[in-house]
Amino acid sequence: MQRDEASILLIYTGGTIGMIENPETGILESFDFQHLKDHMPELKKLGYAVSTYPFNPPMDSSEIGPDCWMRLVRIIADNYQQYDGFVVLHGTDTMSYTASALSFMLENLSKPVIFTGSQLPIGMLRTDGKENLITAIEIAAAKENGMPVVPEVCIFFENDLLRGNRTRKINADNFNAFRSYNYPVLAHAGIYIKYDATQVYRPVSRKPLKPHYLLDRNIAILKLFPGMSSQVIESILTIPGLKGVVLETFGSGNAPKDDWFLKMLKEAVERDIVIVNVTQCVAGSVEMHRYETGQKLLDAGVISGYDSTTESAVTKLMFLFGHGMTSAEVKDHMNCSLIGEVTISDKLTINY
Ligand code: ASP
Repeated sequence: MQRDEASILLIYTGGTIGMIENPETGILESFDFQHLKDHMPELKKLGYAVSTYPFNPPMDSSEIGPDCWMRLVRIIADNYQQYDGFVVLHGTDTMSYTASALSFMLENLSKPVIFTGSQLPIGMLRTDGKENLITAIEIAAAKENGMPVVPEVCIFFENDLLRGNRTRKINADNFNAFRSYNYPVLAHAGIYIKYDATQVYRPVSRKPLKPHYLLDRNIAILKLFPGMSSQVIESILTIPGLKGVVLETFGSGNAPKDDWFLKMLKEAVERDIVIVNVTQCVAGSVEMHRYETGQKLLDAGVISGYDSTTESAVTKLMFLFGHGMTSAEVKDHMNCSLIGEVTISDKLTINY
């Protein structure tokens, strides 16, 4: 590993890591970036050239969406040549959505983009922020034979480095807040940082970074529950301008067989709405052929989301429709892995 030459851009979007407790109300409030540097003299000791890019004002991640994803892509693209890697400090609440979106928007990425944050503010004694930040910087700077060790969009949290578009936030309290149930950990940080090179995404060809800024927000998530009324389903599927729906189903992709329900789905598909089936389970894959209840969805024109997370399926639909694709083209692209977000063996040629 080379240490001396690495230069890292640390982008601070906001979130708990840079927060401070208001002594009067006890409420956590965003603080300015100087606060973070004040509490992290270790940043200087790392031996890397770390530059900072703070958002002003910092944002709670529940306020972060497509505009901010575009802003992040712009910052990374504008600074791409000057830095070896990027660390993005981001609130944990929507970090998986942002990491998923950026994995699609930063086409041909060949440098690390490592997201991290913390459950406790950096100013608190028991903060998890310092270790998360220091290790994230180490990972963003890591090179092997002059090449970045992890040239993809990842989340580092607690001890694990995870592919960003495979993650979900699974705990609001614990330090171990993220999991990637359907894809192995890319690196584990104990005494040493142990990378699993076999799991890291390797671009097939080396092309220049192609940043994308187009996203379509006409997407909805429809989470099924037993006893759901037809009015709820109808009101979602008939939203004017709706283009894509992530349908969160039971188990391996199952849903009720009621005629009214299947008819509504079929009519939506006929109106060119792309309906993608993902499971409500935290792990495993949709297999609509396995049960009659899944097969009926397939017959209605619903497509499989395989082992995709909801976060990844939503941002992928936004990305694909954002590029003006027809429903048929979006379906083709949902049926292949663009950047390791789903486990599908057949790869299609991607054009967007
Ligand atoms: N509400 C915060 C956020 O997501 C929580 C955190 O930073 O973890 O921005």
